[in-house]
Amino acid sequence: KIRVRYAPSPTGHLHIGNARTALFNFLFARHNKGTLVLRIEDTDTARNVEGGSKSQMENLHWLGIDWDEGPDKGGEYGPYRQSERKEIYNKLIKQLLDEGKAYYSYMTEEELEAQREEQRAMGIAPHYVYEYQDMTADEIKEAQAKAEAKGLKPVVRIHIPKGKTYEWDDIVKGHISFESDTIGGDFVIQKRDGMPTYNFAVVVDDHLMEISHVLRGDDHIANTPKQLVVYEAFGWEPPKFGHMTLIINAATGKKLSKRDESVLQFIEQYRDLGYLPEAMFNFITLLGWSPVGESEIFSQRQLIKDFDPKRLSKSPAAFDEKKLEWVNNQYVKTANRDELLDLALNNLQEAGLVDKDITPEKMEWVRQLVNIYSVQMSYTKQIVDFSHIFFEDKQALTEEEVEEIKNDEGRVVIEEFRKQLNLVPRYTAVQVMNAIQATRKVTGVKGRKLFMPIRIAATGSMVGPGIGEAIELMGKDKVEHNIDLTLS
Ligand code: GLU
Repeated sequence: KIRVRYAPSPTGHLHIGNARTALFNFLFARHNKGTLVLRIEDTDTARNVEGGSKSQMENLHWLGIDWDEGPDKGGEYGPYRQSERKEIYNKLIKQLLDEGKAYYSYMTEEELEAQREEQRAMGIAPHYVYEYQDMTADEIKEAQAKAEAKGLKPVVRIHIPKGKTYEWDDIVKGHISFESDTIGGDFVIQKRDGMPTYNFAVVVDDHLMEISHVLRGDDHIANTPKQLVVYEAFGWEPPKFGHMTLIINAATGKKLSKRDESVLQFIEQYRDLGYLPEAMFNFITLLGWSPVGESEIFSQRQLIKDFDPKRLSKSPAAFDEKKLEWVNNQYVKTANRDELLDLALNNLQEAGLVDKDITPEKMEWVRQLVNIYSVQMSYTKQIVDFSHIFFEDKQALTEEEVEEIKNDEGRVVIEEFRKQLNLVPRYTAVQVMNAIQATRKVTGVKGRKLFMPIRIAATGSMVGPGIGEAIELMGKDKVEHNIDLTLS
């Protein structure tokens, strides 16, 4: 039975990299008719942020990812928040202490730092050195009692067996092995505040929740041998591991880091720009996974059907914002119009271009505005920039625009068009096009030399959507005003 989990630490908003982990676990679970568990790893209390897990869950739902067991869903393996599982960890830590597989360590942070300092000075990798080396059981007890009397608080460390190899066949990376001596010394499984460490809690939970496959980012590879030490100490069978390739920023070629401000990295930020969840889902899937064939646009249903972890790539995935824009544009073009309207309206209101309590007529107007830009938009917030000509007064012409229209031909075209516009029976896109054709007939000017002066004079911009629709939507008064300004 396939059971996988997504185990976020509630340290902030949903990051693209974490969303990818969630998404691949989701696809793997759904493809195999297995179970996806959501577990909140909140034992690092200093790093937790208020509302962090709520925001994570909300953004996962937005992406179209759901799970079968979790803090909000319940399930037979709960609780699903690590902070609510302390008794379970404590019992198991006690078991390891009783069996002599773990021990209390009283070295202070200062002593540990001094030890690392010395090791660095000697050119060796900093690591913890067993503090009770060559001591008898009684001597150890005595040393611990003394430390306790001094009021020192201990951590619990696990013994790493000497001279062993920890290895696994990684679903993504192939065979990986670590020598036990290179793991960095007996590591902490319980902190001074009584909380278990990540490397301990994750093993306990994955085991008790009967997780069959752990799919996570390859920043965790160095943790895996430590986790294998814990599995071994309990005599538990580890799950299968797959470590997904890191994500690099396509623009810089560097590892994508949360501090890199050159690129948006949180799902929330893309939501605010009006990206569509289906497009984000599609795009994220392509970060380190490749489908069979050339197509790059897939529905979630198709992806569930096709998902095969063997096609997770070994080489880094490039996060390319341009590609994301392209993918989103593919979805925008075919999106449900009401959904687009909602998003774009929100963007226009946020930008202060449209009133919050919008009239039905204005709503109809915005609907048309969205329609005429939907082919061009990569994401709906772009409508704010695209449509400025509808909201602002006409700006002074740029040099380029002057070049296009301030010549005899241009002037003749504009003047004629102004006349023709007054002759149309109704002010609609079709009639506007008729007026342009009439202008062509009268002046004999055609092609770009016909359209460009009209576009610039009427809309105040060289670029824009279909000229008939744009002029209709702009309204007769504004268009005439624009033209008069141009001619003056
Ligand atoms: N809480 C860990 C993280 O957010 C989960 C790591 C794991 O999947 O084991 O990185």
